[in-house]
Amino acid sequence: MTQDETLVQTPTDIARLALKTLVQRRQPPTPDNFKRAYDEIAGSKSEDALQLLIRLLRDAGSTHSKWLGLAVQMETAANKGDVAALEQQVRQLIPAGNMVGNWGEVLRELLRELEANRPGFTVTKKKEALERVLSNFGGDAAALTIKLQGLVSLWKGNAESLEPGLLAELQENAPVEVEDSSGLPTATAIWWREMLIQTLAFGIASRLQYLPELERHAQDVLGQARSARSDKEMEKLGEALKAFWYRLEMNQNAESRLHEELLQLMRLLVDNISELVVDDEWMQGQTQIIRDIIAQPLDIEALYDAESALKELLFKQGKLKHSVLEARESLKRMTEDFVNKLAQMTEYTSKYHTKIEGYQAQISGTSDIVDLNVVLDGLMRDTHSMQMDALRAHDEMQELQVKSDEAHEKVRELTLEISQLSELAHEDFLTGALNRRGMTDAFEREFGRSERSGTPISVAILDIDHFKKLNDGIGHDAGDAALTHLAKVTRDALRPSDVLARYGGEEFVIILPETPREEGVEVMTRVQRDLTKNIFLHDNQKILITFSAGVAERLPQESQEDVIKRADQAMYLAKHAGRNRVFAAEGNT
Ligand code: GH3
Ligand code: MG
Ligand code: MG
Repeated sequence: MTQDETLVQTPTDIARLALKTLVQRRQPPTPDNFKRAYDEIAGSKSEDALQLLIRLLRDAGSTHSKWLGLAVQMETAANKGDVAALEQQVRQLIPAGNMVGNWGEVLRELLRELEANRPGFTVTKKKEALERVLSNFGGDAAALTIKLQGLVSLWKGNAESLEPGLLAELQENAPVEVEDSSGLPTATAIWWREMLIQTLAFGIASRLQYLPELERHAQDVLGQARSARSDKEMEKLGEALKAFWYRLEMNQNAESRLHEELLQLMRLLVDNISELVVDDEWMQGQTQIIRDIIAQPLDIEALYDAESALKELLFKQGKLKHSVLEARESLKRMTEDFVNKLAQMTEYTSKYHTKIEGYQAQISGTSDIVDLNVVLDGLMRDTHSMQMDALRAHDEMQELQVKSDEAHEKVRELTLEISQLSELAHEDFLTGALNRRGMTDAFEREFGRSERSGTPISVAILDIDHFKKLNDGIGHDAGDAALTHLAKVTRDALRPSDVLARYGGEEFVIILPETPREEGVEVMTRVQRDLTKNIFLHDNQKILITFSAGVAERLPQESQEDVIKRADQAMYLAKHAGRNRVFAAEGNT
């Protein structure tokens, strides 16, 4: 105690000292400031009571953080002398009388609603929610009443009547109290924590299935987020999150590098394929298609297109290369024969040459007519067989010449066929349907025709249902066969003027000239029926292929992309409605 304080006895002393305090604090002597200073010096009983209250609240805070938060807030208000705030805080300690008085009614309603059949809430779900509320607010009658009444409203379908914070709290899967920096749980903090949990669980952890370590890390952080209650735990969660983001970021860098490297590898391979083959006119065309595809940003459709173009390339290239090599091989053999024959001829000629030289020597060395006759006989015989040999060799050489010309012609024809093949690249190799390039041309042609004749034109897109599962079950090759089957059944069900194109993977686009939307839906439903009649057989096993489809009628001047997009959206809805159905697109009636 200071000397001044020990001297304070009378109200006048207190008033004097209060004024002195104001001067020391450089505060203006307004009635409020004066009263505060006066009360401080008088050491009023009310102030002691406030300190007592704050201390009790702090004690209670060790088991229920709400009270600790309130104690801190009251202390702050008391230090500032903010009486209004203090009053507000003390009021929080008074139970809401009207609610507490309603216990009977609250419980009756709760029991009724617990049993009632309400959409979206099973009895188990309701019991779980009740359990959570009881364990979180069991010790706080006023809060408990509010939460229980909230639950009843929520189950009754009156969610909109609830205060958003309370609603968020009641709808949580595993609500725990979250405290704001002052120690009090707030609806906003609860909402943020819930958003964090959802983002981690559905946005991040679920995408890390190929990176088990990182997924485990995400699950750890998720567990921490779910159980974080106190300030300290939230702080720790923040640190854990930071560490996790850092690791995720590092990994993403590595992943995108990996992506880029893979693409680069593919580009290199494609660039070099043409170097590896004998004839590359068709290859040039085909590799250019693949190059174009992988030059675009990577998406799964582009990869499917690249895969299918590559498969086509390898198959045809293998077949043609074999034929060309065969033709070349026989040409080579013939040339060898020819050279052999030529060598033989030269051999014959030199043999006869030696013989004739022998005869010449004999002729010049004899004058006996009998000997000469013998020499001439020999010469005649040898000349004759030499003539025969030469004739035979000549015939053989001529025959070889013809064969070699034929072989040359064959090589030329095959090479021509190869170069023509690249012009055929409007068709999908597997199914015989048009490919993307062919489809674009067909769209241009058919849209033009429809505009000129003023007739409606519809576009359908179909996507096989659960095709991944089918592939997994019977293998990728059988999956290919299923695609071919579907394309054939579809083509058979369509009119000759309709166009079938493979849009990518297991998705097809069908252009239906002179067809309004509803008729388009009928056509696609007919295709579905035909597919159930002409069932796909694999290893004597019947496999039902179904698809979901969307049909859009082209709007005036609508682009290919837009009309496909509308059909695609309808197809998406058909998938969501349970698959194996045809939906008409929005945008036209
Ligand atoms: P959903 O009903 O939702 O369409 O299920 P889904 O399994 O069909 O899913 P999604 O359309 O996303 O998957 C397409 C699958 O089709 C992916 C791939 O395995 C397979 N696929 C794509 N192109 C081909 C191909 O040329 N041959 C084979 N066999 N399978 C392909
Ligand atoms: Mg698909
Ligand atoms: Mg599919």
